[in-house]
Order: sequence, then C-alpha cells, then structure tokens
Amino acid sequence: MRYGMAIDTKKCVGCSDCVVACQLENHVPVGYARDWIVEVTEGTFPNLSLEIRSERCNHCDNTPCVRTCPTGASHIIEGGIVKVTHNECIGCGACIQSCPYDARYTHPEGYVDKCTFCDHRVKNGQDPACVSVCPTHCMYFGDLDDPNSEISKIVNRRKIKTLAPEAGTLPQIFYLV
Ligand code: SF4
Ligand code: SF4
Ligand code: SF4
Repeated sequence: MRYGMAIDTKKCVGCSDCVVACQLENHVPVGYARDWIVEVTEGTFPNLSLEIRSERCNHCDNTPCVRTCPTGASHIIEGGIVKVTHNECIGCGACIQSCPYDARYTHPEGYVDKCTFCDHRVKNGQDPACVSVCPTHCMYFGDLDDPNSEISKIVNRRKIKTLAPEAGTLPQIFYLV
C-alpha cells in the first residue's frame, strides 16, 4: 500500500474549493492552510501559458521532515502518509526548515500542522476532503502499489511531473501536465 495523489493541471481552475474544504474538514485556523493554489505563467506575450495547481505536503518517500524531528512527532504511518503527533511536537521548527515545499505551518497553539491525506477519512473508505469537493474532478487519490487503481492507471497513462525533484525527497503527488 502506497498512497499518492495525482492532480490534473489541465483541469484545475483555481477555484480554491479544495482549500476551503480542507480548512473546514480539518479545523485549520483562519489565516493558515494545509493546501493552497499556485499559478505559474510561462513564456512571453503573446505566447503565454498558465499552469494552475493545488499544492500540499507531498508525503515524500524520502522525508527530511521526519529525519530532523527531535521528538519523533513527525512520523510515517501505513501507506506512507506523513503525519505529526501534535502532543509530541515541541514546535522547534526543524521540520519546517527541512521541507523544500513549505508544506508545514506552526499552529497558533504551538505545534506544527500539515496535510494528513485526510487519513481519518481514507481509513473509512472515503476520499480526502479536497479530492471529494473538486468541481472539475482534477484530483485522484489512491494506492500507487495497486496497478488497477485509478491513480496508477492515470499516472502510467499521462505525462507527469513532481515538484522540485532535485530536492531528492521523492514526492508522491504527481502533477498531470
Ligand atoms: Fe515532509 Fe515536506 Fe515532503 Fe511533506 S512535502 S513529506 S513536509 S518534506
Ligand atoms: Fe518535530 Fe514539532 Fe520540531 Fe517539527 S516542530 S521537528 S514536528 S518537534
Ligand atoms: Fe487537506 Fe486532506 Fe486535502 Fe491534505 S488531503 S490538503 S489534509 S483535505
């Protein structure tokens, strides 16, 4: 079992429904976010292209955030989901410094928080909140180890990229381009 996500940059319209759904589902405080929208413009006028994508923790296979955590609060659970045990976190910020994706934030209550792949929903057979509300169905979540899963099929069929591959963290979120 290896959970991952594929996000279709050709279908994302940047509506931020995924951001709002995450904030509501996971009680993310106002002014903070576990996911966010990035818009990248490339080229020069009139040959411009725009990529819109929803970003979050990449649930990397190689995790500097886990290695640098002095208390073990940052850890990996079944399926490769990277989590933080809030009451074991001392708020030192080592994980924030080591993440190349700026995927973590310090909660006003002093602990570090980030995307959990909505593991509380996934264990009940539901999709993550962000995936379930996307009006263009541009996100796919599932088991990358299962060759018959929808995510495996689409990752194998389409051209993909990961963010900042040079960081060597082996992200498990794949952008369909
Ligand atoms: Fe850790 Fe950052 Fe990778 Fe998430 S994106 S697993 S916080 S290194
Ligand atoms: Fe670990 Fe918390 Fe420090 Fe991050 S801020 S490295 S989760 S103790
Ligand atoms: Fe938020 Fe869950 Fe989506 Fe992660 S998987 S960005 S925690 S809604």
